[in-house]
Amino acid sequence: MRLGGVAKYVIEVEQPAEVPEAYGFAAQRGLPVFVLGYGANTIGRDDGFDGVIVINRMRGIGEIDGGGDMGVDGVDGADGANAADGTRRIRVMGGEYWDAVVEYSVNRGWTGIEALSKIPGLAAAAPVQNIGAYGQQVSDSLVEIEVYDAVEGAFMVLTKEELAFDYRKSILNTTASGRYFVISVTLGLAPGQMARPFYNSIERYISEHGIRDYSPRSIREIVSAIRAEKLPDPTVQASAGSFFHNIYLTETEAEAAEDKGYPVHRGQDGNKLSAAWLIEQVGLKGQLLHGMRVSEKAPLVLINESAKSYEDLAKARAEIMGKVYDKFGYWLEQEPVEITNESA
Ligand SMILES: Cc1cc2nc3c(=O)[nH]c(=O)nc-3n(C[C@H](O)[C@H](O)[C@H](O)COP(=O)(O)OP(=O)(O)OC[C@H]3O[C@@H](n4cnc5c(N)ncnc54)[C@H](O)[C@@H]3O)c2cc1C
Repeated sequence: MRLGGVAKYVIEVEQPAEVPEAYGFAAQRGLPVFVLGYGANTIGRDDGFDGVIVINRMRGIGEIDGGGDMGVDGVDGADGANAADGTRRIRVMGGEYWDAVVEYSVNRGWTGIEALSKIPGLAAAAPVQNIGAYGQQVSDSLVEIEVYDAVEGAFMVLTKEELAFDYRKSILNTTASGRYFVISVTLGLAPGQMARPFYNSIERYISEHGIRDYSPRSIREIVSAIRAEKLPDPTVQASAGSFFHNIYLTETEAEAAEDKGYPVHRGQDGNKLSAAWLIEQVGLKGQLLHGMRVSEKAPLVLINESAKSYEDLAKARAEIMGKVYDKFGYWLEQEPVEITNESA
């Protein structure tokens, strides 16, 4: 969002062994730690951060072929051979750019993460909020992650089951928020392609463009084109992607919403009411609020056009949430994480 103050210290770690050192540095000074990736889903407050920001700068992607080990010495990770069903395991160091991981997979004709093309950020952050887009989420392909546990002061492996993934959730941003530093991510990917029906916007795109190639490469190109048309490029326009979560409804709530004429999407992941639709219905699509633009093309996205401070963003957010609540009775929930001194 390009808002917020400065941090007292920033440590960039390039080796697993430097992770405990970084936490030790903070502990010696009695300072809190905030782990940052690329910052695509994180917002700073105006008073800055009176603590230590630690960033994973470990890069590298490698196939685990039974003997290969890019991970942390002494950690009993996914050293298994590739499975009989053709699934390949790759270990990605957390400082790798997520989109480079998608490119790596697509180049090999593997399916699993092609619809997650062009999501800005580092690989280590992908499991934190279980990134998802166009019908895929990282939990579909994730096998396990290597972490440093700041509470126990030890390296360990957390399996997919232990991470308890849900819509934009894992233990990393809920029950164990702030506890683990993600070092690497192991994914299981297989040769093949996504099954139809695809996500609505992909179906629309392929019918409009007469596309018959559904290979991972083709889906990556389609998703990239759809995203380029709809979403701001974070290197040019400051945003945090979707600023609010969609609203998930129980069956009773979904029926009540439908009775009022609200469009409820019933998907495999539950009954979803689009937050973008709610924002549009209260007339805020395309509006400029305290320097924050409610995107015309994707109303869930707030773009920092001329906001000067976190305070401006907070005012814009309050206005949007208030209008949606007054008209529909739903409180929108913010997606991006905030670096705060209070929670530290
Ligand atoms: C234009 C735009 C489009 C986007 N589109 C999507 C989308 O389609 N789908 C989607 O799911 N998201 C989307 N996002 C959100 C964002 O890209 C993802 O959340 C991404 O995973 C953030 O990665 P990051 O490295 O920037 O994480 P950051 O914002 O730096 O951090 C996010 C969270 O991860 C934690 N974290 C980061 N690194 C580590 C680590 N090594 N160990 C432990 N915790 C860590 C942080 O503490 C923080 O809680 C979008 C964002 C933008 C700006």
